[in-house]
Amino acid sequence: MVKPNNSQKEQLDDLRKLVIEIMQDMDVWKDHELDALYNIKLGVLRKNATQRHGVTKWQKGVSESELSFETLDSIELHPELLNQQWNAYAAFVLHHEFIHALGFRHHNSLFRKLEYSWPGVNAGEIGPKFTEFLRRKTANWLWVCKDCNSEFPRKKPSNGKYKCRKCMTILVDVKLN
Ligand SMILES: [Zn+2]
Ligand SMILES: [Zn+2]
Repeated sequence: MVKPNNSQKEQLDDLRKLVIEIMQDMDVWKDHELDALYNIKLGVLRKNATQRHGVTKWQKGVSESELSFETLDSIELHPELLNQQWNAYAAFVLHHEFIHALGFRHHNSLFRKLEYSWPGVNAGEIGPKFTEFLRRKTANWLWVCKDCNSEFPRKKPSNGKYKCRKCMTILVDVKLN
């Protein structure tokens, strides 16, 4: 895990407080002990991660039946989520990781029900936007469709292997500086 710097630490703690306070008002959590969430070690993912927005880690070698607050290692969020503009989505992601921490390991239908009890943010829309934002930030290449001008920022060139889904035209590589 990447150690958060002081300002990241402060932002993570503020976000944690916000999320726990909202959870305390949510029906689905009213029978759960949420105070332990204040003790979880929070960290940040590596900056160049693009697919993962958050992760819950248990201590090494812990088996499925031993997952609990005691065997929890840390929760890590993507550092870009700590920018103000992503605050609403960051809260949704931390809530997602807190659901794992509360003992719901798998993304099954119960998990999704808990996750989407979260008020306010339509993460189904914001999640892909955040992924796209990260891809643009770390891209070395644009894959361009010459027919509809769609651009797909990526780390590697497409080398003629990918087509535009809309037009079925082979995408062209443009190198970014
Ligand atoms: Zn998850
Ligand atoms: Zn196209």
